[in-house]
Amino acid sequence: MPLPPAKSAWAEGLDDVRELARTFCQKELAPNQERWSAQKQVERELWNKAGDVGLLALSIPEEYGGGGGTFAHEAILYEEQARSGDSAWGVTVHNGIVAHYILAYASEEKKREWLPKFASGEMVGAIGMTEPGTGSDLQGIKTRAVRDGDYYVINGAKTFITNGGLADLVVLAVKTDPDAGAQGVSLIGVPTDTPGFRRGRVLDKVGLKGQDTAELFFDDVRVPAANLLGEEGQGFIQMMQQLPQERLIIAVTAVAGMEAAIDQTIAYTKDRTAFGRPIFNFQNTKFTLAEAATEAVVARAFLDQCIERHLRGELDVQGAAMAKLWTTERVNKVVDDCLQLFGGYGYMTEYPIARAWTDVRINRIFGGTSEIMKEIISRTL
Ligand SMILES: Cc1cc2nc3c(=O)[nH]c(=O)nc-3n(C[C@H](O)[C@H](O)[C@H](O)COP(=O)(O)OP(=O)(O)OC[C@H]3O[C@@H](n4cnc5c(N)ncnc54)[C@H](O)[C@@H]3O)c2cc1C
Repeated sequence: MPLPPAKSAWAEGLDDVRELARTFCQKELAPNQERWSAQKQVERELWNKAGDVGLLALSIPEEYGGGGGTFAHEAILYEEQARSGDSAWGVTVHNGIVAHYILAYASEEKKREWLPKFASGEMVGAIGMTEPGTGSDLQGIKTRAVRDGDYYVINGAKTFITNGGLADLVVLAVKTDPDAGAQGVSLIGVPTDTPGFRRGRVLDKVGLKGQDTAELFFDDVRVPAANLLGEEGQGFIQMMQQLPQERLIIAVTAVAGMEAAIDQTIAYTKDRTAFGRPIFNFQNTKFTLAEAATEAVVARAFLDQCIERHLRGELDVQGAAMAKLWTTERVNKVVDDCLQLFGGYGYMTEYPIARAWTDVRINRIFGGTSEIMKEIISRTL
C-alpha cells in the first residue's frame, strides 16, 4: 500500500485541475527526463503546449489572460510535477514567481503586454537576483541601472538563473542608487531580445540536470523606463513581499517529493527479495519507512496549514521560512533513507529515487539557504 493520498482541504473541489495537471505531467514531462538531462533544457515548445492546455499563469486574473485561479491551483500543478519525477521544467519560477512580480508591481500597460504571453507560453519568465559575487546578501548586488531619459541602461551579470537558457523576459534586480543600500535596489523587466543582453553557459549541476540554469550578462542594455516594476528603490521590499510565496512553492515540491519517494520505496522493497523474503519484511526497512511516512505526514500537515494561511493572505515571512526550512531539510533525510533501501539500484540514475536524491539537495540552498531561513525565523523570536 502506498501512502494514502493526502486529502488537503485547500485542494477540495479542484479534482479537474489535478487531473489536467497529472495527465500533462505524466504524458509531457515524465518520459523526457533523460533527453532533457542530456541537453540541459526542455524543448521550447513545451511551454506552448502547457499554455494551450491552460497550465500557465494559473493564478493570474482572467483579464490578463491567466487562469483566474488561486495559489491552490498552482500548488496542485507543482505537486503533480514533483510526483511525476520531473525536475526540468521551470514552471514554478514562471508561474509562481515571475508572473506574480509582474501582476503586483508592473504598470497596467506592461501587465497587459506581458501576462497574456506568459499564459500562452509565448513568453518564458526568469527572475535574476543572484550574481557571481552575492546571493544571500541581496543588498550587495552590483548590476547597475542608470536612468538616461526615458530609458535605463543596465550593466552587470547574474548567475544560477532558472529558465535562463530559454527566458524571454527577466525580472532583474538592479542597483539604481549604489549608495542607498537596500533602498537602492529596483526591479526591472528586461526582454531578452534587447541588444546587449547575452546568455552565458547553461550550467552543469549536481541535480536538476534538465533545467536551463544559466549565467546572464548585460552590457549597456537599454530598456524603457516604463519596464520598471513599481517605483525606484522599492525592489528590496518587493522581493521581501514575494519571497514567502517562492519559499512556500519550494515546500510544496519538497513534501510532494517526500511522498513520491516513500511510495516508490514501499513498492520496491515489497518486490525485491533477499535472504528468501521481501526486503520490506526486515525490521530495519519497516522502521525506516515508518519514520519516513511519519515525517511526510507531519510535513504535509504543516504545509497544508501554511497553504491555507497563504490563501487567506496571512502567511508571514517567518511562517514561510519555517515551511521551507523544515520541509527541505526533511526531504533530504527521507530521500537519502529511501535510496539506501534500493541498494545499488538506488545509485543508478535510471532509477527515479537516484534522480530525486540529487534533485532535492538544492532545496536547502535556493530561495534562501537554510541558514538564512534560521536567521529570518530567529529575528522574530
Ligand atoms: C539550481 C539553482 C537555481 C537557482 N535559481 C535562481 C534563480 O532563478 N534566480 C536567482 O536569482 N537565483 C537563483 N539561484 C541562486 C540561489 O538563490 C543562491 O545560490 C542562494 O540564495 C545562495 O546564494 P549564494 O550561492 O551566493 O551563497 P552565499 O550567499 O555565498 O552563501 C554561502 C554559504 O554562506 C551561508 N551564509 C550566507 N550568509 C549567511 C548568514 N548571514 N548567516 C549564516 N550563514 C550565511 C549560506 O547559508 C551558505 O551556506 C539558484 C541557484 C541554484 C543552484
